Formats: sequence, structure tokens, C-alpha cells
Amino acid sequence: MSDLARGICVTEVVVIGGGVAGIQAAMDIANHHIHVTLIEREPSIGGHMAMLDKTFPTNDCSMCILSPKMAEISRHPYVTILTLAEVEKIEGSVGNFTVTVTKYPRYINEKECTGCGDCVTICPVEVYNKFDAGIGVRKAIYKPHAQVVPNFVVKDNLHCVECGLCYQVCGKEAVLKVTEDKVRTIELKAAAVVIATGYTLFDALKKSQFGYLRYADVITSLEFERMINAGGPSKGELRRLSTGESPKSVVFVQCVGSRDLAIKRNLCSCVCCMFALKNSMLIKEHHPECEVFILYSDIRAYGKGYDEYYERAKSLGVKIIKGLPGEVQDAGDHLVIPVENTETREFLNLNADLVVLSVGMEPEPDTVRLAESLGLPLDEHQFLNPADMKLDPAGTITPGIYIAGTSLAPKDIPDCVMSAGAAAMKASLDVIRSVQ
Ligand SMILES: Cc1cc2nc3c(=O)[nH]c(=O)nc-3n(C[C@H](O)[C@H](O)[C@H](O)COP(=O)(O)OP(=O)(O)OC[C@H]3O[C@@H](n4cnc5c(N)ncnc54)[C@H](O)[C@@H]3O)c2cc1C
Ligand code: SF4
Ligand code: SF4
Ligand code: SF4
Repeated sequence: MSDLARGICVTEVVVIGGGVAGIQAAMDIANHHIHVTLIEREPSIGGHMAMLDKTFPTNDCSMCILSPKMAEISRHPYVTILTLAEVEKIEGSVGNFTVTVTKYPRYINEKECTGCGDCVTICPVEVYNKFDAGIGVRKAIYKPHAQVVPNFVVKDNLHCVECGLCYQVCGKEAVLKVTEDKVRTIELKAAAVVIATGYTLFDALKKSQFGYLRYADVITSLEFERMINAGGPSKGELRRLSTGESPKSVVFVQCVGSRDLAIKRNLCSCVCCMFALKNSMLIKEHHPECEVFILYSDIRAYGKGYDEYYERAKSLGVKIIKGLPGEVQDAGDHLVIPVENTETREFLNLNADLVVLSVGMEPEPDTVRLAESLGLPLDEHQFLNPADMKLDPAGTITPGIYIAGTSLAPKDIPDCVMSAGAAAMKASLDVIRSVQ
């Protein structure tokens, strides 16, 4: 786009964050023939939903739902997508905002790259893949996953050893040297802004009693999602990270970093009961012989069809025990979890080959930075606060700035999509008013 090349672009709405909430908000606005710029800091849009295997309560494949939306928005004539981009500041007022964006280099000529992946195959360097939540690797030139949008590779100069192989193999001469691409600043003029910067997960290391990173077979729920995903690093094979063997027993520990007054996190993360039920059922469907336990304090299955989902997990043989453990112990070739069943007063020592910590949701540190720079109020857990929780949950105290998805609070995908629709409607009205 020639205006973008000059560093200035007149758009009508800026949506910050390309997860499911940002994608939905951008799509709803663009379908009213209003120009949207969708800003995503990662190499691809998709956010956390792109990392998931199945989605509760229907167990539909997550990417089968999201991927067509990602493709559609990338072709939408009213949408410009800026990846590897971050908002630095927002100035102005409703109808007339200036959004300053830093665009980081991809070191790829996007006009030439076909996304064929030949450069990825030949690259000799392997590093940790953030997209696989720590249990997979990627190359120094890479696509985080197979269905990226936009369909380009990205070169990570921090880990590149400049062996030159990718330059040689690329028939399009699309790989750029460090000196051939640079950080750019882009100014966007917009009537309204939607913040959809999402969430991050509670750091399981802060609950050291559960042995995360001390014991190889203690993993987080997001790592489990990548493991059980057919498109993930183990191609969907459930296995112990210590031995590579299929686990004979899996224990899910709920409320890790949520509803925990000891660490001043007295919020419920809303989705972790449901995703533990989902993943326990997926294990039972693939490995009926595997013993699966969920250790919980309360089961929060509040949505349409959610209680039925809970009953289905029980009928498949998942053992759902009321009681949270104090620690995870090492027993040599397996782990032991001492726990009291608070309903029967029975003390149990559960043997586990794999322990999955259902870590809670936290606000994105970037959202906090944006909120502080815009003077937007945050709640006690640092999530964005709306103008009015009941009557205007998508609005903020600043006219023209709206919130969608989990930047407001922990939510599941259907609730993210609904909040995105509300934010999109309000932002679209601002555009219409600004031209009247
Ligand atoms: C293990 C696990 C399993 C789950 N399973 C389910 C399920 O089965 N069903 C269900 O309904 N829900 C599930 N969820 C919840 C689901 O992940 C969320 O509801 C949903 O993905 C949130 O979408 P979002 O767009 O609000 O946030 P995100 O997906 O976090 O997207 C935010 C995007 O904004 C980008 N971003 C952040 N800051 C900036 C910035 N400053 N500039 C530019 N871009 C930025 C991020 O890179 C990201 O792409 C699960 C969650 C977890 C952790
Ligand atoms: S840079 Fe070249 S080799 Fe790599 S994906 Fe693009 S076109 Fe293919
Ligand atoms: S030049 Fe860098 S990115 Fe390209 S193949 Fe070699 S190590 Fe990989
Ligand atoms: S959703 Fe369930 S596991 Fe998550 S914090 Fe709430 S009660 Fe705990």
C-alpha cells in the first residue's frame, strides 16, 4: 500500500490485537464498508485460539473454525493487516485519533515470498517455538505454524548464523539481509480504536510446590493443548516428556494462579474448568485405558451446554475429585499427588505419569502499558475496566476507544466473539458520526 510505504495511512478504525476477538471486531466493522487496520505484534494473526486443539463445548477443531476467518479477513477489501507491529501511542479524540505504530522487520520481501517453506526446510538452526508453548522447536527462518496469515515466513536474526542457505534456495530472492529491512514508524488516522490485546497465562513457576520445570512431566494446560493437537510438535501423540512413553495416568490440577488469596489473585479464570473437562475427555476418547483425574475446588460450567459437558466427562470415566493438592512429589519413575477428597474426607496419594496445571489468565503486560498511556482505568487484577460493566461493557471512559475479548476479563471464545461484535458496532457508529 503506497500510503503505508510513506508511513501514513488514513484508516477509519484501528483494531489492536489479532486474536479471535480482534479478527471478529475487524470483520464486523469492515462488513459495513468501513476501512479497518488490524495490528498484530506476532508474525501471524490468530492469537491463542490458533494454538488450541478442540474447543468446548462442541469439541470442534479450533483451527477448522478460525482458519477460514483468518483467510477471509486477509482477503477483505476493507481490511489492512499489519503483523510484527505494536502500537506505541494513541493521541487525539473520538473521530480524530492518531495511532503511532512500530512495524518490526520480517527480513522477507513480502511482495515476492510465496510461503513455499523451502528456506525453512534447509535452515540448520533450531530454537524454542513460542507458538508450541515450549514443547516444540522452529527454525531460525520459520512460520510459527502451518496456517499462518499472512502466508510468509519470518527470519529471526537473533538466532540466524548467516550460513546463507536460505538465500541460495529461495528462487524468488525474497530473503533479505539485516541491512535490507528496518524498523519503521507508521501513523494511522482513525475515528475509533478497538483494544483486543487478549491475555497471557499465569506463570506456573510462581507456584513452585507443583514442580513446573523441576519435573519434566508437569506441564501447563496450553502445553497440553499443543501436545494433543495433530498439528503440534508431537502430531497429537500424548506422551510423557521424561520418557516419551504414553502416560497411564494424567492428573489435572485446577485453579493454579486463580482464586488464590495467598498470591492476591482472587479471580476465577472462567475457562479452565471447561478446558480441563475438554482435555480429559480427549484423553479418554483416544486412550480409554488411561486413568484421568481432575482435582478441583468448584466446577464452573456456567454456559449453554456446559453442565451437560461436565456430565459427559464423568460418564466417560474421568474421576472428578473435590480437593486441591498442596504439592506434587517426585517418586522416581512417576509423580505422586497427595490430596484430600473434601467430600468423602478420604486422603489419597494419586500416582501420575503426567500432571497438567490449569493455569489462570492474566492481562497482557502491553494492555497495561496502553491503558496507562491512555489514562484508562484497570481493575485490581490489571484487566481493562469498561465504562459500565452492565450497560456498556465494550465502552471505556474515553469516547471512541472500545474493548473486546479477554483484555477486559477472562472469557471463552463465544463471549469474546459477542464482545467483539459490541465493540465493532460502537466503533462503526463513531465513523458514521465523524463523516456526518
Ligand atoms: C489452555 C486453554 C484452552 C482453552 N480452550 C478453550 C476452548 O476450548 N473453548 C473456548 O471457548 N475457549 C478456550 N480458551 C479460551 C480462549 O483461548 C480465549 O477465550 C480466546 O482465545 C481469547 O481471544 P482474545 O482475542 O481475547 O485474546 P488472544 O487470543 O490472547 O489474542 C490477543 C492478540 O493480541 C495480540 N497483542 C497483544 N498485545 C498486542 C499489542 N500491544 N499490539 C499488537 N498486538 C497485540 C496478541 O499477540 C494476540 O494475537 C482456552 C484457553 C486456554 C489457555
Ligand atoms: S522466502 Fe523464498 S523460499 Fe522462503 S518461503 Fe518465501 S518464497 Fe519460499
Ligand atoms: S542464513 Fe540464517 S535463517 Fe538462513 S538458513 Fe542460514 S541460519 Fe537459517
Ligand atoms: S474456571 Fe475453574 S479452574 Fe478456573 S479459576 Fe475458575 S474455578 Fe478455578
